This record gives sequence, structure tokens and C-alpha cells, in this order.
Amino acid sequence: MKVKLYTILLTILIIGCTIKKEIPADIEFTVLPNLKDSLPAVEVNFDYKSDKRGLITLRYENNSWGDNDVFNCIHELQVLPKPENIEFNRDSSLITIKTKPNLLSSINYKIIQDYKGPPLNQYRYRPMMDKNYFHVLGMRLFMIPDGIFESDSSKAKIKISYQSKSDEDIFHSSFGKENVQNIEVNRDDLYGSFIVGGDYRRYSFTYDNDSVYFITRGNWKAFTDQDILNQLKQTISSQRKFWNDPRKGNFSVSLTPTYETWYSIGGSGFSNSFVSFASNNEKVTLAQMKWLYNHELLHKWISRTIINENEVEQYWFSEGFTDYYAYKLMLKNDFLDVSEYVKILNHEVIIPHYQDPVNTIPNSELTFEEFWSNYAKYMKLPYRRGLLYAFLLDNQIKNQSNNSQSLDNLMIDLFQLSLNDDSLRLNQKVFIRNLLKYLNHPEVESDFEGYILEGNLIDFQDELPDGLSIEYQNNIPLLKLDSEDFSDLGKRLKL
Ligand SMILES: [Zn+2]
Repeated sequence: MKVKLYTILLTILIIGCTIKKEIPADIEFTVLPNLKDSLPAVEVNFDYKSDKRGLITLRYENNSWGDNDVFNCIHELQVLPKPENIEFNRDSSLITIKTKPNLLSSINYKIIQDYKGPPLNQYRYRPMMDKNYFHVLGMRLFMIPDGIFESDSSKAKIKISYQSKSDEDIFHSSFGKENVQNIEVNRDDLYGSFIVGGDYRRYSFTYDNDSVYFITRGNWKAFTDQDILNQLKQTISSQRKFWNDPRKGNFSVSLTPTYETWYSIGGSGFSNSFVSFASNNEKVTLAQMKWLYNHELLHKWISRTIINENEVEQYWFSEGFTDYYAYKLMLKNDFLDVSEYVKILNHEVIIPHYQDPVNTIPNSELTFEEFWSNYAKYMKLPYRRGLLYAFLLDNQIKNQSNNSQSLDNLMIDLFQLSLNDDSLRLNQKVFIRNLLKYLNHPEVESDFEGYILEGNLIDFQDELPDGLSIEYQNNIPLLKLDSEDFSDLGKRLKL
């Protein structure tokens, strides 16, 4: 009898806990792929209540991440009960539905690929789909009712239910592999997420008790799935060790083929995932993919944890320092040797930077508008400018501290500060204040102003570690290895 009572009490307790966990979501999205339709589409459905004026205002970014007219991807928006009016405002990225006050409406729409033919890397942030698969970013799939996110930092409880039409379908998102996902995220983390389905292949491995997923599709010409999976394993392991991040959680990576005749790779790094794309032809190399994976994974920390105050204004940091660390961590972990590292700095950074007609424009001219509307013109500028400045600082800190400190210390400090204070934003003041802990020569601030704000080219003549010198070729100051034995230099560069 006693046992029975305990069992009953225990059952009540378990039920109590289970009920407690089920907090209703602020919004529930149902995602339904209609890939076999004549126009392949992903259908989204949700219910939302109008305010006391009878309005439902939905946000869907029409111009963002270099893409314009994303509203073209919206198809067949339907609202039930039939509303009085639906207004699409492309300039403000808003869709306004006028209905009766406080009325619950069911909103249904389709997202389509708005250009014909196979996916291209230049359109990688637009929805991609055909009869076999879809790849859509969170910000391109979900219309977000105003009021779901009260502020930039506030989080919402969101339920995503995927309704597959076939058992062979793979569904995966930045939030995991389950067909029903309950997440609590801020706007940035919903925007910066991916949702894929269809004929993707899913692989997984465990790192420090967290699952890492790799999702890809297509028949790759230049490498195998396993090649990229191995690279991902190495990258995850080396970067997690570098940051010594106490946060737990799964991580997801998608790799989607694009179809151009030249070589093109690209991606974007989010909080717990990144997306990657590569032309499916023989021109793509594993070395390029290695750089891409190192770069995109680093964004988990640089840009998603240490957050820019003003996006493009601090791209010198979130892209430039990310690129510097992509290469530095590859060197530290012996995925590159010293001669390969120096060759990359010369050929991927210094030469193109010196040949770049906009290489000395002031940082203030790189506004969000200017940068993203002239992406091809400015694309690599903050990467290279920031990387070279990071290289300078790294050399200076090592020099001043007799090799007992390096730029790594500053990066870890910025990471820890951001972890302890999620309102911290990286700007000139925060950066300089922390840099001064490691570097105290009189030109620290004027160097920053000159090299980053004004865009002056850096003279590395007296700023290189022993074993490296400058050699001019066609007026471009290239790095030169002083000796064939670069083991000591390697040790200094890896510090
Ligand atoms: Zn980047």
C-alpha cells in the first residue's frame, strides 16, 4: 500500500514537473515544404491576435545583408478571417493587416526562390529551393509580428513545427534536428539562423558532450562529405580550446552547393551554427574551405558574443580580427606551416589590399548603407585592414612583453567581458581601454585613429618579429622569410 502511495505521489510530482515545463510559446510557426508544386515553396502558418486598433504588423526584412526586394520571395499571403486590408510596405519592411480589434487571425504564406535556375553564391542569403530541397535563413522565412520582441535584447519563446511530407525528408535548423523545436531567442538569433529540408545528408559527432551536426547535399566534385566533416572536427576542437568557453550547447553547420562556372565560397556565422556555400566545381579547394570554416566558426565568439556597437563601423574588428584569428589558429594548430602562413598574408591580404583602389578611404565612409549597397567594391576592405592592424598589435604586444603576452590575451579578455555583461558592445573606447592593458606606448590611440579610422596603410618595417622582413615588389611591401629554418619564427608567430 505504502509503495502504491509513493508511486502515486511520484507520478503526481512527475506530471507536476512536466506541466510546469510547458510554458506556452509567444508564437508558433508551422513550416510545411511544398517542393513538388510547380513553383517549389515553403509554406508558413501562424496565428496572431490584432491589437485594439485592429492591426497586426509583421516585419519581414525587404533590404538586408546586401539583398534587395526580398518581398519578391513572399507568395500567396492569406489571412483568415478575411481582413479589411493588407498593406505591403517595402520601404519599412512591414506588412500591415487591418482586421477587427483583438481578433485572432490565421496567417499563411509561402516563401519561394525569386530567381530562376540553380542557386548562386551571390544570392546565398536569399531563399534557395527546388523540387528536392530548401535552404532559408530565419529572417527570410519568418514574418515577425511587432510585439514579439520588445527590444533588441529581449527574447521570445518560439515554437517551430515542421510538417514533413515524406519520411526521407531531412529537416534541420540552427536550433537542432527535431521536427518540433521550442526555442527562446532574441531577434538577432532568429534572424541569424538557418532552416533546411529535403535531400540533405546529416552527420554528427560529439565534442565535450555537445552534439555537432553537419548537413550537406549534392554530389561534391572537389571533396567528399567526410573531408569537410574532418575539417569541422579539427576547427571545432581548436577554437573551443582557444576560447575555453564555459557555455554548453549543440552546434549545426550547413553546406550547400551553388552552381557557377568560376570558384566562389561564402558563409555566415551565427550563435550556434553557421551556413556555408561553395561552387560545386573542381576549382574549389580544401584549403579555401579550411579558411572558410575557421572564419565562420570564429563568429560564434567574434561578432555573436563580442558584439559590434554599430555593425559595419566595427567590421575592422568583427571581420578583420576574425580573419586574423582564422589564420593564426590554423598556424597554431599546425593546419598551416609558417611558409604557407606568410604566403597567405602576402597573396590573400597584402597584395590585394595594396591593389585595392579604396584601400585608404576613412572608416567613417563605410556606413551600413554605403557598404551593403556597394558590396563588391568594399567587400574585403575591412577584412584586410583589420587583419593587418591585428597583426601589428600582436607583434607589438609580444615585443613589449618579451613574448609573455600577445593579442590572444586581449581577445580572451574581450570575450570574458562580453560573457559577463551581455549589454557590452565593442567600440573604439572599449577596444582601446582594453588594449592599453597590454600595450602602453604613446602612439596606441593615434595608431588606431590612423590605421583604422583614417585608413592609412601600415608600415611594418620595424614591427615584425625576428625572422621576417619587408621586401618591396612592384611597390608592395611583401613579407619575406629571412631563413629557410623558420622554427623559431613559427614559435613567435604562434604565441
Ligand atoms: Zn565574416
